[in-house]
Amino acid sequence: MTFDLDIKSTVRTIRDYPKKGILFRDITTLLADARAFRRAVDELVHPWAGSKVDKVAGIEARGFILGGAVAHQLSAGFVPIRKKGKLPHTTVRIAYSLEYGIDEMEMHADAVQPGERVILVDDLIATGGTAEGAVKLLRQIGANVVAACFIVDLPDLGGAAKLRAMNVPVRTLMAFE
Ligand code: 5GP
Repeated sequence: MTFDLDIKSTVRTIRDYPKKGILFRDITTLLADARAFRRAVDELVHPWAGSKVDKVAGIEARGFILGGAVAHQLSAGFVPIRKKGKLPHTTVRIAYSLEYGIDEMEMHADAVQPGERVILVDDLIATGGTAEGAVKLLRQIGANVVAACFIVDLPDLGGAAKLRAMNVPVRTLMAFE
């Protein structure tokens, strides 16, 4: 579900970043606003308050900031999903599609136990390629991905629909057309 909160105005839009023609939604301004940051985290966790969540998985790098706060609120553990080559112990790895080309992400193979209930967190979902890769990676080691949460949805790019088609409930707090 998406509803535009009053914190939407704290997201800054940067034209032509990282390349010409792109409108980049910069959430660092939301994070820097104490009220907006608290509200965003409170709203992201709201449906799962009081229910059992074992782990929160955050996608590098902005997903770490939000994921840590979400994990704290839900009294869950935190698991980083990183670009390849950054994690020190045995990892599982998956290739995922970016707007131009592919990349690979990894997580520690023992970070989640089979059957554990996991919420995936990132700042924004666009085409859904990144989140789709993360869900596949989590499922590869037996996680039960109970939801994926994002502050920003870009619905025209279809990412949230892609995740729902994989039977992952999606929560987003605001949309930009
Ligand atoms: P997707 O894989 O869904 O196409 O892209 C989402 C990933 O790219 C997320 O990890 C997100 O952080 C990053 N991303 C893509 N576009 C934007 C943007 O406009 N703003 C922010 N903050 N992140 C973006």
